[in-house]
Amino acid sequence: MSAPVVVVGGGVVGLCTAYYLAAEGLAVEVVERRALGSGASRGNAGWVCLSHSTPVPAPGVVRYALRSLGRPDSPLYLRPLPDPAFVRWLWRFWRSSAPAAFRRGYMAIAELNRTTFDLFDGLREAGVETTLTRPGMVHAFLSAAEARHHLAVQRQMADGRYPMPDDVVTGDEARLLDPALSPEVRAAYLVEGEGVVDPEAFAHGLGEALAAAGVKVHENVEALGFRTSGDRVTALRTEQGEIPCEAVVITSGIRSSDLLSALGRPLPLQAGKGYSFSVDLDTPPRHTLYFGERRAVASPIGATTRIGGTMELSGNNNRLDWRRVVAVALASRHYLGRWFDDPDDLIGLIRDPWVGGRPFLPDGLPVIDRVPGYGNAFAATGHGMLGVTLGPVTGRMLTDYVRTGRRPEVLDPFRFGRPGW
Ligand SMILES: Cc1cc2nc3c(=O)[nH]c(=O)nc-3n(C[C@H](O)[C@H](O)[C@H](O)COP(=O)(O)OP(=O)(O)OC[C@H]3O[C@@H](n4cnc5c(N)ncnc54)[C@H](O)[C@@H]3O)c2cc1C
Repeated sequence: MSAPVVVVGGGVVGLCTAYYLAAEGLAVEVVERRALGSGASRGNAGWVCLSHSTPVPAPGVVRYALRSLGRPDSPLYLRPLPDPAFVRWLWRFWRSSAPAAFRRGYMAIAELNRTTFDLFDGLREAGVETTLTRPGMVHAFLSAAEARHHLAVQRQMADGRYPMPDDVVTGDEARLLDPALSPEVRAAYLVEGEGVVDPEAFAHGLGEALAAAGVKVHENVEALGFRTSGDRVTALRTEQGEIPCEAVVITSGIRSSDLLSALGRPLPLQAGKGYSFSVDLDTPPRHTLYFGERRAVASPIGATTRIGGTMELSGNNNRLDWRRVVAVALASRHYLGRWFDDPDDLIGLIRDPWVGGRPFLPDGLPVIDRVPGYGNAFAATGHGMLGVTLGPVTGRMLTDYVRTGRRPEVLDPFRFGRPGW
C-alpha cells in the first residue's frame, strides 16, 4: 500500500482538503496538535459569503489602524511590537492597501469564490453535515450616508457577479429588515443568499466524513518537521515518531510558518486576532448582521446568537483581552439595543468568550500552492477573514493540484513569493 498524503492541521482548511483528497481515493492522514476544529475554526462567525470577499489591506485602512494606536476599544487595534518581522509585515500591508492592489486581490478572491456555494451543496449531498443555511446578510448602519457609501463600494466590487440591492432602506423602515435591529439603526440593506454555518458543527461533520472515508486522524499530536530526500518530503516528524508520506499539505493556520521554516520557506504570517461570544437575546437576529460603523457582526448559530468582531494585531498569540470582549459587546448595543446595562454584567450574560488568530499574509490573500523547491509539499494558509467561506474551494483546488501536479489557473494569484510580500 502506498504512503498517505499527510495533512498537518485539522482546521476548516485542512479538514476540507483532507475530505477532497480522500474523495479522490487517495490514502490520507490528518495530524492535529489539539482537537479537530479547535483553532481559529472554532468560535468564528460562520459566514459563508460573497459580499465580504475584500482583502483587509483596503485603501485607508492603515490611517484607520494608526488612529487606533493605544485604543483597545477600537475595531482595528494595533499594538506596536519591537519586532523587525512585524514592522516589515506592516510596511507590506500598507503597500497592499493601494487601490490597484486591493482591486486585484478582490478580483482573485471573487474568482476563487465563484463555486463556493456549489461546493457546499456538493458536501451536503455527499452526506456532510455542513449546517449551512442561507438567510441573507443585513448590513446595518447608524447613518444613511455611511450605508450608501458602503453599498456603492460593494456594488462596484460585486460587478454583477452576485445580486446586490440597488439602494439602502432608511429611517424606521431600516430595522424592519431584521427584528433584532434597534431604533438607532437608520439605514440598512439586505444581501440575499448569503450563508452561515455553525463552525464547530461543520468541523465535526467534516471529521465524521473523514472517519467514514477511512482517513486516519491523529489528534493531540504535534508536527515538528520533516524528513526529506532531495526535492521530496518522505516523512512528517511528530512528537510521537515519523509518519511516512507520499505528499504533505501544511494547513496549520497561524503556526504554518514554523513548519514552512523547516522547509526553508517561512511565510510572513501575522495573527489578526478576533473575539466572539454567545448570548441569548430576547429577539435574536434572523439574518447574519454586519454592524457597519463598528465593524462587528452577529450570527444566528444554533439556538443562540454569536457576536464577534475586532481585528487586533498584537503578535502571534492567543491571549484574550477582556477589554476587547467588552468593546465588541458595547459596539453591538448600538445595533441590537441595550441587551445589557453594565459591562460588569457581561460575565453572567455571555457564554464562551473566545479569541482566535486569523492567519494573515500582508496582502490579505491566502497562499495555496506547492512549496517552492519541493515536488510533493503543499501549503494552504493565510485565509484571514474568509477561512470558512474559502475552505471547500481551497480543498477542492488543492486536491486537483496534488493529484495532477498542475496548478489550477484560479490559484495563480495565491502562489508563494508573489509580489506584495
Ligand atoms: C472572530 C472571528 C470571526 C471570523 N468569522 C469568519 C466568518 O464569519 N467566515 C469566515 O469565512 N471566516 C471567519 N473567520 C476566519 C476563519 O476563522 C479563519 O480564516 C479559519 O478558521 C482559518 O482556518 P485554518 O484551518 O487555516 O486555521 P485553524 O482553524 O487555526 O487550523 C489550524 C490547525 O492547525 C493546528 N496546528 C498548528 N500547528 C500544528 C502542528 N505543528 N502540528 C499539528 N497541528 C498543528 C492547530 O491546532 C489548528 O487546529 C473569523 C475569524 C475570527 C477570529
